[in-house]
Amino acid sequence: MQAPDDAEARRQIAPVICYPTDTLPRPDLSLYGSARTGAVKTGEVIVPPREAASIEIPAGHFLRITSIEGPQVGDLNLFASANLDERFYSGKTRALNGTHVTTGDQLWSSFPYMRPMATIVEDTLDWYGMDPFGGSVHDVIGTRCDPYTGQVLRGTQYHHCCHSNLTRALSDARGLPLQEAEARVHDVLNVFMCTGFTRDTGQYFMKASPVRPGDYLELFAEIDLLAVMSACPGGDCSAEHTSDVASCHPMLMEVFRPEPGKLEGWSEPPVNAYDRSHGR
Ligand SMILES: [Zn+2]
Repeated sequence: MQAPDDAEARRQIAPVICYPTDTLPRPDLSLYGSARTGAVKTGEVIVPPREAASIEIPAGHFLRITSIEGPQVGDLNLFASANLDERFYSGKTRALNGTHVTTGDQLWSSFPYMRPMATIVEDTLDWYGMDPFGGSVHDVIGTRCDPYTGQVLRGTQYHHCCHSNLTRALSDARGLPLQEAEARVHDVLNVFMCTGFTRDTGQYFMKASPVRPGDYLELFAEIDLLAVMSACPGGDCSAEHTSDVASCHPMLMEVFRPEPGKLEGWSEPPVNAYDRSHGR
């Protein structure tokens, strides 16, 4: 199509931020920090490579996700423990926080609940920032590797994609038939994954994660949570996923309970106060 005479002028119009965050309620990170001091470990689970595992995190507890043994990316799903309909909403989390999340960012739940499910309280990769390719860590832009896209692109059948791993682990955690569990699996928080969009073509890219054993991402559970995480078959996601090619490593999820009285002033966020009658 022939560009209009004022094409360049239209391109030069300055953007505006879709959701300015100056009115976004912010968590009290110093309160969480003091609650974390002296917190005791109450549970852990190892996520095997190319598989998923789940763990419950009561409201007011902490979830630490750690890289062990070797660089590895994790695909995380979060559910309200008592209501699987309320789950992590990566799209809205992205709209509010940007393409990648770090300390102080909150992970929001789906409509019609839309409240903070968890707050990121520590991120040992926060030094990475944005690299020269436009890549950063812990993205909320990817979906999760899945067998359907593999079928479309290559005609392959692979059953250890994060989507399938999450489906099986959720099914095991809640005793759901696989089909019911699959319908509840949702777009993930890509823990430790380094991604971005190419500047020239706008394509989603990944590159070797800067994560090393000992690095961790820690969340504060704002509500009772069920966390399900897959150790992605892409390993550090430096080359490919949806196959058995990459070298993969286990990951660790641990839960910590603060000492009594350490969360004075904090309370579980209520579901969004928007009037759900739709004006009727
Ligand atoms: Zn994956």
